[in-house]
Amino acid sequence: MLIQENLSLQQKLEILADAAKYDVACTSSGVDRKGRKDAMGSAVSCGICHSFAADGRCVSLLKILLTNECIYDCKYCVNRISNDTVRTSFTPEEICTLTMEFYRRNYIEGLFLSSGILRTPDYTMEQIYQTLWQLREVHRFWGYIHVKAIPGADPALIERVGHLADRMSINLELPTGDGLRKLAPGKTREKILTPMRQIQHGIHDNRLKLEDQKQEKKIFLPGTPESGGAPAKVKKKAGLPAPKGMLRYEEKSKFVPAGQSTQMIIGATPETDHQILSVTEALYHRFELKRVFFSAYTAINDDSFLPALGTRPPLLREHRLYQADWLLRFYGFEAGELLTEEKPYFNEALDPKCDWALRHLELFPVEVNRADYMTLLRVPGIGVKSAKRILQARRSAKLDFPDLKKFGVVLKRASYFITCGGKMMGNTPIEEDFLTRALTAEDRVKNQRIANAGAFRQMSLFEDFHVENPSPGPDDVWKSLSGQL
Ligand code: SF4
Repeated sequence: MLIQENLSLQQKLEILADAAKYDVACTSSGVDRKGRKDAMGSAVSCGICHSFAADGRCVSLLKILLTNECIYDCKYCVNRISNDTVRTSFTPEEICTLTMEFYRRNYIEGLFLSSGILRTPDYTMEQIYQTLWQLREVHRFWGYIHVKAIPGADPALIERVGHLADRMSINLELPTGDGLRKLAPGKTREKILTPMRQIQHGIHDNRLKLEDQKQEKKIFLPGTPESGGAPAKVKKKAGLPAPKGMLRYEEKSKFVPAGQSTQMIIGATPETDHQILSVTEALYHRFELKRVFFSAYTAINDDSFLPALGTRPPLLREHRLYQADWLLRFYGFEAGELLTEEKPYFNEALDPKCDWALRHLELFPVEVNRADYMTLLRVPGIGVKSAKRILQARRSAKLDFPDLKKFGVVLKRASYFITCGGKMMGNTPIEEDFLTRALTAEDRVKNQRIANAGAFRQMSLFEDFHVENPSPGPDDVWKSLSGQL
């Protein structure tokens, strides 16, 4: 392992931001926190990672590794110990400097911190804890933080980090234990699932605690050691002074308020889409995860267990899995309805909802003026918002096709599966071959674009995908950080 000493902060940033590019589990949501006078930053649900590149990956978090050194040799990983790459590590202070400076300059809205395993899982987790503690308590950083929990680390450390982070994630890495044994010999399913369970329980206990407090109408007093004494009102009556002093983030914060997520690599091992989706469903049900992310495997290492170098990442497959994941989370589908052992892969030419509808033509057409919410959600081209709008609007009027368009229904797809007032939009037969041809023609160009999209490219923090003028490059930004611009 080639460990580089004496690198500048900028050189470290280049190495450790690039090394983080294979981690896709970095969206954020679900935490609302107002700014405070004595702290910097705020977090809003759905407002943190709102800047997305064309391939769906977010760009508004400072996404880095604490270190790209690693004691493990996971075959699929660019940072594995056997790879001959330049290694370096940030100190907690360096990460704080970068986060605060970038935040002040409005380049980022939060931090996404992952890491290789430096010395031991405990040592790495301790470094992560130190970083978060300094950010929250010394720099008073109130912005969003998503951090990786290190499998095998002491549960007490994970607990403490959980009180400083907004979201935590532990990568499942591969969909089955078999895949893990073959490709990640240093990890076991148990080492990954144990902290995942711990975080789930922590979130759950925290929620119960908060509900209890609400019921008892307790008011937490900042700075009190236990924060569980008599309510403020009572103390005031008894003549006790309300304690002064800075609020300690760790003491008062919720435990992992934005929930936990995980990530699986797709295409490095031979699991089917059916296996992957079943595991995803189980993770949502049994571990109450907020998100499961999929990462199309990019062939970067030469190994007989892995797809050959030069194999294209299965981006369209990844895309179908994301669409199916959406159907599980918001559309009331179950994994077993979308795929089975007999049909273990998604049709790459069709999105999973259309594919499902074509296999259940006996349920169509659906009359939009009568169908219930869950039935509307199953119609290709009708989404959560448009289904709700349909339900609301039809209370006062009978709906026709032009109304549906206004509600956001994608008639190019939905028109084959619905009636309005008993009539279909055209004279299209509800016949599988015809509909398959019509729907695949519809998506052909889009599918090709996804399948041929470039592999991973770490987005520059300073790149604006929506502006045509050239953005300042890292050099310019570095100069601005050091006051030279
Ligand atoms: S633990 Fe495995 S996946 Fe994680 S950085 Fe090390 S080699 Fe890579």
